[in-house]
Amino acid sequence: MIAPLNAEREPAMNVQLSGCLRPFAPDAARALVRVVVVGHVDHGKSTLIGRLLHEAGGLPEGKLATLAAVSARRGMPFEWSFLLDALQTERDQGITIDTSQIRLRTPARDVVLIDAPGHAEFLRNMITGAAQADAALLLVDAAEGAREQTRRHGYLLHLLGVRQVAVVVNKMDRLGFDPDRFRAIEAEMTAALAGLGLTPAAVIPVSARTGDGVARHASATAWYRGPTVLAMLDAFSPAKAPADLALRLPVQAIYKFDHRRIIAGRLESGRIGVGDKILVMPAAKPARVRSIESWPAPAPSPAPRAATAGQSVGITLDREIFVERGHVICAAASPATPAKRLRARVFWLDRQPLAVGGEIVARIGTASSPAVVRTIEDAVDPGLLASDGADVIEQNHVGEIGIELRQPLATDAHAADPNSGRIVLEFGGRIAGGGLVLATETADAHAPSGRRARDQAFVGTRTARMDLDADALGAMASALAPVLAALSPAQRIASLRRELAGKIVFTTSFGLEDQVILHLISQQDDNIDIVTLDTGRLFPETYALWAQAERHYGRTIRAVYPRHDDLEALVARQGIDGFHRSREARIACCNVRKVEPLERALAGARGWIAGLRAEQSAHRRDMALVAAEPDRALIKLNPLFDWTREQLLAFVSANDVPVNPLHARGFASIGCAPCTRAIAPGEPERAGRWWWEEEQKKECGLHARSS
Ligand code: SF4
Repeated sequence: MIAPLNAEREPAMNVQLSGCLRPFAPDAARALVRVVVVGHVDHGKSTLIGRLLHEAGGLPEGKLATLAAVSARRGMPFEWSFLLDALQTERDQGITIDTSQIRLRTPARDVVLIDAPGHAEFLRNMITGAAQADAALLLVDAAEGAREQTRRHGYLLHLLGVRQVAVVVNKMDRLGFDPDRFRAIEAEMTAALAGLGLTPAAVIPVSARTGDGVARHASATAWYRGPTVLAMLDAFSPAKAPADLALRLPVQAIYKFDHRRIIAGRLESGRIGVGDKILVMPAAKPARVRSIESWPAPAPSPAPRAATAGQSVGITLDREIFVERGHVICAAASPATPAKRLRARVFWLDRQPLAVGGEIVARIGTASSPAVVRTIEDAVDPGLLASDGADVIEQNHVGEIGIELRQPLATDAHAADPNSGRIVLEFGGRIAGGGLVLATETADAHAPSGRRARDQAFVGTRTARMDLDADALGAMASALAPVLAALSPAQRIASLRRELAGKIVFTTSFGLEDQVILHLISQQDDNIDIVTLDTGRLFPETYALWAQAERHYGRTIRAVYPRHDDLEALVARQGIDGFHRSREARIACCNVRKVEPLERALAGARGWIAGLRAEQSAHRRDMALVAAEPDRALIKLNPLFDWTREQLLAFVSANDVPVNPLHARGFASIGCAPCTRAIAPGEPERAGRWWWEEEQKKECGLHARSS
């Protein structure tokens, strides 16, 4: 527990602002945790950081008193944010301070607080590896709650892959430390973050201005049982030390000395010892380490027997195998993946946008390979922190790409190993981008044969997609329909996967049907993208189920969000709840929040799996188990099309499928919170959706494009 701090007593913690009076020397024995502080500037970020600096102790002697005196002379009350302003001014004058990286020392941790003023630059630094954050403080103004701005900051953390987040609800003093208001924000933020796959480590009520909740709790928050902000900094887990990860030794050079072939490189992670079993990746050639060499010859002391991450070493192996620069020496028990295809989140720097079909060179460690961009998704303008809906990645934008490598490269997902999971992209002979490897696929994961080989030629190119004309799709759907009708839902999904090469997308809105399909997909080695359309108006229970389903099935359910500009224009035009006014207003809202994002979710897909059932409504009875969608150049499968609600309920209870608790309160078909109500016994399932509309007008356009 961190004791309260004040100016009079001995400081328990130190602060370093580079060059300040009290130098900070990182202690190798203490864990270092890097914490990014995100939040709107008006929500009190500077005040919180200023207050943290003070509470942690170690500020330059007399700094506070000087600032207080200056404020008094000017007839202004002292503000904590002045502290950062003053330090910033000193930095601007070249005197002392780097306010973007502030170091504190807590009892258990060395902490680097990273201020993130500009999203674009920060994203670039994080994605290209120039900066790293292990955790985040996300600031919310208690009076404003979780606004769009705060959701975007959550999205920023999601993009960066920061999993440890504490929400700091600031300015509680202005609301008299009202527990009800705090709990409402806590629920709102927890749901919003759940939608991004994040669970807050704590939601902390504070007043940065008065210091309550920063290093000590106020009596006014006696109802709160969680940590203070400083205690939270102390509790964040630091990143795993490189030495504790699996062995990765990218080969830089091979030297021949007398009879020895010495393999030289820098140990990026793990440890290596004489006698260890290794695999040389990507070819997976096995060997044992015969010696670790040192120069000059170590006599009279013995040659080293082991080395650890960070050291440059030369090793010899116990057998003659082909090794060259670019190969990676890996622990035999946990080698890197010999990836032939990979998905990466990249920051693109080149003036020419990155497009599908683009030919690039991918570099990982000391290896490189020519590559072709097969897919582009979720291109994001980092300035707006919103998807720009483009199918290219513009200069200084972020996006997810799928690439195919001409030669396999040894790599890991960034989440497993931050060093070997980084990729650099070259375009036209210059470095044009860089990023994080999200997923890898080996050369033989989808070895094409026969019809699949033909189909695979279509994957990811627009021309090829157009080759699948309406007639060809129609014929494929007609051929599949009788075959799939005779199968179980699980077999239908597996069969579609077998029949279609390329991307298949399952869109879930976490209904009963969707949860059953998610369960079935998770039982198969499916290679199916699971996507949800986060309209921003879902029930907190739905966001919580999203997080629960990801945990339960160990799957990522990717969110596609409405385009920010469209959303702003919609709300400006008809207000936040304008959809009640007319059918046209509802369709407009659905188009922005669901229909347009769906088109992005399905971009490049050959197959679409959805949870429609015939008995749900008269409208849905006219749909089909399998259908061709020529406009989207895909085949759509509703694997539960002929199931009854009773079958669904029996399946979820027999298989422990997590379901939305709202069902127990009478909700049947669950969509956006303001457009859904519980139904009375005997009412049709979809009676609770857009209940103010006539029966035949209830579809929103997602499943009935004619709407
Ligand atoms: Fe808008 Fe309601 Fe449609 Fe959701 S269901 S997108 S809130 S009209």
